[in-house]
Amino acid sequence: MQLVDIGVNLGHRSFGEDREAVIASAVAAGVTEMIVTGTSVAGSRAALELARRHPGVLWATAGVHPHDAARCDAGTIEALRGLAAAPEVVAIGECGLDHNRDFSPRPVQETWFKRQVELAIELRMPLFLHERDAAGAFLAVLDACAPPPERVVVHCFTGEAPALREYLRRGYTIGITGWICDERRGKHLRQLVREIPLDRLLLETDAPFLAPRDVKPRIERNEPRHLPHIARVVAECRGEAPAALAAATTANARRVFAKMAVSPAPSATRP
Ligand SMILES: [Zn+2]
Repeated sequence: MQLVDIGVNLGHRSFGEDREAVIASAVAAGVTEMIVTGTSVAGSRAALELARRHPGVLWATAGVHPHDAARCDAGTIEALRGLAAAPEVVAIGECGLDHNRDFSPRPVQETWFKRQVELAIELRMPLFLHERDAAGAFLAVLDACAPPPERVVVHCFTGEAPALREYLRRGYTIGITGWICDERRGKHLRQLVREIPLDRLLLETDAPFLAPRDVKPRIERNEPRHLPHIARVVAECRGEAPAALAAATTANARRVFAKMAVSPAPSATRP
């Protein structure tokens, strides 16, 4: 099984002590490529630096999460534009709207979400999007800006059927995490995941968050090496063979995040 983890927060402090070992064990488990999520300008810069040290294995996104939208300023979009020019940066994001936590005021979230969608359109890059309890406002921004649907990824979908159907109707691609492994919170997703066409499905851990609840012994910190487990659960829910699901989601990742198909040459300094 060869998998791509399209969302892993490898810059998170919980990986400060053993980041290299976490990457190595993911690769050993068949997670051969990972996209490191950038959630702020500084975080996106760190994600790019990490990706540069692991050519062909790690990739990065460049964006500002809605939680951090209040910290955006006049230089934010220029900084993201600069980062996005690197061959390792495969998407604009994580950006979007979060009405669940409301860490940034909603109008501020909306302003910076819209500006990042416009940037992705200008740069012809995919969007790695976050939406939590904000489907209506989120769709309003996307419908107004109209990015090409084949370049829109709604990451970590945990919502309800109406939102999923709206995303699918528009032609967006959907990221599914280990939330689906949760017997209680993920129950509705086990049914819903069957509605996603195989060519519009992506897999991600969102590590260190969302540790799959059914991994034994129970884990606190999620890691990309748990992606094969998530793939097996998703395949079971959809009545598909895990190998077929793995092959399809890997092909989907390479199609959507097109810069991944052009691996940067390993740097001369790499052991
Ligand atoms: Zn997110």
